[in-house]
Amino acid sequence: MLSSEDNDTIAILGGGLTGLTLADLLNSKDALILEKEDECGGLCRSVLKNGYTFDPGGSHIIFSKDIGALEFMKNALGDNVCLRRRNTKILYNGKLVKYPFENGLSDLPKLENFECLLGFLKAYIEHNYGAQLTPDSFKAWMYCTFGPGITEKYLLPYNTKIWKLDPGQMDLSWVDDRAPHPSLQDIIKASLGLGSEGYVHQLQFYYPREGGIQALVRSLEKKARRQTKIVNGFKITSIKKTNAGWLVSDGSDNIRCREIISTIPLFDLIYALEGVPGYVKDTVDCLRYNSLITVMMGIDSPDLNDLSWLYIPDGACLSHRVSFPSNYSDKVAPSGKSSALAEITCREGDHISYLTDEEIIQNITGYLQKNKIISKGDIEYTELKRTKYAYVVNDLNYKKNVNILRDYLKMTGIHIVGRFSEWEYYNMDTCIRSAMDFVSKWDV
Ligand SMILES: Cc1cc2nc3c(=O)[nH]c(=O)nc-3n(C[C@H](O)[C@H](O)[C@H](O)COP(=O)(O)OP(=O)(O)OC[C@H]3O[C@@H](n4cnc5c(N)ncnc54)[C@H](O)[C@@H]3O)c2cc1C
Repeated sequence: MLSSEDNDTIAILGGGLTGLTLADLLNSKDALILEKEDECGGLCRSVLKNGYTFDPGGSHIIFSKDIGALEFMKNALGDNVCLRRRNTKILYNGKLVKYPFENGLSDLPKLENFECLLGFLKAYIEHNYGAQLTPDSFKAWMYCTFGPGITEKYLLPYNTKIWKLDPGQMDLSWVDDRAPHPSLQDIIKASLGLGSEGYVHQLQFYYPREGGIQALVRSLEKKARRQTKIVNGFKITSIKKTNAGWLVSDGSDNIRCREIISTIPLFDLIYALEGVPGYVKDTVDCLRYNSLITVMMGIDSPDLNDLSWLYIPDGACLSHRVSFPSNYSDKVAPSGKSSALAEITCREGDHISYLTDEEIIQNITGYLQKNKIISKGDIEYTELKRTKYAYVVNDLNYKKNVNILRDYLKMTGIHIVGRFSEWEYYNMDTCIRSAMDFVSKWDV
């Protein structure tokens, strides 16, 4: 039986990127990470299969506008890093169009290019010199920012596919940081084929040379272990308030601690916590998220393509994005071979969640072969992985629900940091920033 009677213990729930960053920054012998899996890393784990390294939690690249968070990640990797320039396309009606779509207008047939440009110009004029309507949903924002051409040809089908929700039912709180805001000049240049780039803070990106994205968290874990105890295989199922602090349990072992910093999904936290009022449980049940299925593909071909990743808005393919990790680093596939990773979102109980592994793999490989992305016979390895919590979905009740849960947790004194604990659409950099801000403000 594992037990801790040390009431100075600061329990960090979850050993993903956020938990490990917290441990690194706290640099305290009192910190203790409790992680349910045998390995730390959460969404940032990697696997080695038949000589291929895959990131089954989805394709992860390192980029950021936040210099401090970017430096933190680069420092953790040291020399084990590659710098790449993004070469990303959208597979649109069988043609490759430069990403972001609005920067690739000249790759479209002339009439479609014209429709997109005209729609953009009208929306631009309306937005800047007209009624200046404030969009009330993600879908309204698309029309207002990009006009009907770009919205209906790409943004709407793609976003409906990844979010598994009508963008008219999604709020806007996440859009500012995540969606591109192109300038008029760039769109006109793109339409004329003069070349322009969008989403420029991601144009250059880093990736570990060896070990996949988990190399980043492995390095943090190694540093954290010098001070912090990490308990793997500890799935938190109960959290009780005591006179001196908290009692955290996995059903057989008990840990006493003074403070709790949770990085685990709000669902797990609320359901483990004793004495939670009904309205809080009802609220957590209303939170919407998407799960992820990844199909890892080992390809017996030396230079499959030069793409970073490919967006697929077409509903005939289950995957919305296929990445090519062997173009991030030549150490993640055996010499003379290439790799691809398809991402598919689903919701518990929807038709995709009921498909067998074989049906999903067939759909993806068949579609990629039909569209000449991968040649028939070259795929020598496939495996599928499922991840329950992948995307926070910002539906129209998102803000209201999250505020209720945050207010309640604040009353309990439990701190929440990270993607599924704060229930925010955070990338790795924002998780790190959130951990940095938390530690700098925390008065222990
Ligand atoms: C498809 C996809 C692609 C992405 N691509 C990028 C990218 O290119 N660049 C980027 O910067 N970010 C990317 N991200 C985001 C990035 O993965 C996350 O921001 C980050 O990994 C979140 O870390 P976290 O520690 O907050 O959460 P998690 O990684 O979810 O970690 C939570 C940890 O808690 C543990 N846990 C859960 N429940 C319990 C329990 N009951 N008891 C004990 N432990 C528990 C889990 O096992 C896990 O280890 C991507 C995400 C997805 C889904």
